[in-house]
Amino acid sequence: MDEQILEIEESIPVNPIESFLRTDRMPHIWCPGCGIGTTVNCFTRALETSGLDLNKVSVVSGIGCTGRVAGYLNLDSFHTTHGRPIPFATGLKLANPELKVVVYSGDGDLFAIGGNHFIHAARRNLDMTVICVNNSIYGMTGGQVAPTTPISATASTTPHGNFEQPFNLPYLADSCGAVYVARWTAFHVRHLTKSIKEALAKKGFSFIEILAPCPTLYSRRNKLGDGLDQMIYYKENSEIKHGADTKSVALDFQSKIIVGKFVDRDRPDYLTLMNEHYQKKFGDKYTPYKG
Ligand code: SF4
Repeated sequence: MDEQILEIEESIPVNPIESFLRTDRMPHIWCPGCGIGTTVNCFTRALETSGLDLNKVSVVSGIGCTGRVAGYLNLDSFHTTHGRPIPFATGLKLANPELKVVVYSGDGDLFAIGGNHFIHAARRNLDMTVICVNNSIYGMTGGQVAPTTPISATASTTPHGNFEQPFNLPYLADSCGAVYVARWTAFHVRHLTKSIKEALAKKGFSFIEILAPCPTLYSRRNKLGDGLDQMIYYKENSEIKHGADTKSVALDFQSKIIVGKFVDRDRPDYLTLMNEHYQKKFGDKYTPYKG
């Protein structure tokens, strides 16, 4: 009998991303139909073919449903305080510039509590990749309105519909100086994987927004069906427009979604600028900072 069980176990194919996961932490906390797991799949597949030394990749998350990503990845990762993954990531990068630092967090964490950190990291062009899973609501804390909740959508704190103008995240990142800006949905797995790979290869502040379903709070409250219904909505309503003006990609409630790579440009990152500045000022007396 034991041998039979062993044979069956051996015949079960290994999940291709298993080596990237801390399987001892499974099962994960995400609800059935949640889009976050799909984004992790894309991220690990991008990492797999990125050519990066995984011993030099570090993932930093804040608090929230997406904030759990860092704890599930079998990489050097940090599950930090609410809204503060970017300051932690900044410290990590400046202390050890050899690291490839990735911030992986939700829209509430990155753009409400952590909004100020985001704009300054992009302005400074810190060399890091920020991946934001945008489910249009605060998930873990009970479905409150977020800075990304579309106008008229309901949340636990806006039962009669939201009337606050939400952020257009690609426009925000672009106007603050990010060198790479893209948006995809959890439906666009191949495009997203490719985009993450590009962002990881980019020097400077790169940003990817991923629209992902939260069936438990956002979809249920707004009567949008389950996770699959949201994926069908993404499929039927997305238009790929690479290079689109980020001003034109704002999201309305259940409207058309413009996805694609909007920005891909070069400008010197923070440490390069710092070293150039002090070298100009102090000449040979200055030793370039390398961590
Ligand atoms: Fe996902 Fe929403 Fe559940 Fe959080 S509450 S795990 S975002 S479905």
